[in-house]
Amino acid sequence: VVTELHGCRQCGSLDGTIVLSRSKGAYPVDLTKCVACGLVYYAGSWLDEDPEFYEYYAARIGQDRDALYDPLTGQRLNAMLRRLGRHTPGRRLLDVGCGEGHLVDVARAAGWDARGIDLSLAAVEICRSFGLDVDRTDFFDEKLPRSSFDVITMIELIEHVAEPAAFFARAEELLAVGGVLHLTTPNFSSLGRRLLGADWQVVSPAHLTYFSPRTMRDVVAGSTGLDPVEVGTRNLSGAAMRRVVGRVPLATSIPKAASVPGEGYAEEQRFRHRVEASPHLRLAKAAANVALRVTGTGEVLAATFRKVGHRRTG
Ligand SMILES: [Zn+2]
Repeated sequence: VVTELHGCRQCGSLDGTIVLSRSKGAYPVDLTKCVACGLVYYAGSWLDEDPEFYEYYAARIGQDRDALYDPLTGQRLNAMLRRLGRHTPGRRLLDVGCGEGHLVDVARAAGWDARGIDLSLAAVEICRSFGLDVDRTDFFDEKLPRSSFDVITMIELIEHVAEPAAFFARAEELLAVGGVLHLTTPNFSSLGRRLLGADWQVVSPAHLTYFSPRTMRDVVAGSTGLDPVEVGTRNLSGAAMRRVVGRVPLATSIPKAASVPGEGYAEEQRFRHRVEASPHLRLAKAAANVALRVTGTGEVLAATFRKVGHRRTG
């Protein structure tokens, strides 16, 4: 069931222009760019839980870590935690929208006091089977203690959120002074989106907001007192590279845990595993990332913000 929203998800302005239209697929998707604040959003919204993800998690209950957690992702999460650990001395971490709990698991093994929340019962059941501290709790639930987390992570979550400003404000409330919010989301200013247009694999009725580095800074600055630590981009998708060079290398087989739903995503995973397996391709990727970082056109937007003090309210 899809409902239509009227006005921008950030500022409420009714003044918008359609910047991308996708007519193929099960649902047509028009993305609107707000004339007032620049945020790109999808005006429709799901009333029910995304059925694809519900079934995805339900089918994975009862499997062990090796079947669910991609080791390549584990390495990336460990590197992310080491970077975040340099920004704050505390080790209390909350992963919002934790899914199967890979980040919570990696964090716990690295000595963090890590917990997660998710709205999917099946995902929570998987996490608990691994002994992880994960609850089916809404981010706005009063049970979550204020000013009590050193790191809050939102990995590929904010694009699913109808009112991102409220999420940022809630993260600020839950962070301890000196703590950091870290999030990743697809970059609407990416080379991939520019090359692929309506074929960009991110375009979906399940994704409601589409940030660029600039709109990410603006929305967080407009809704919180958080200070930007780093707002950057990285990576080129296999689909974007194919648009430029034709054929792209794909791994012939990948760990079972790396398989994800959706044809486009499955191909991206095979691309990623192929690149990581080759020293030459890893070097090419590192070089490409320098250019993508400088131009802000990488596929992944990664942002870290710090809570410098309590906001005066009232
Ligand atoms: Zn707006």
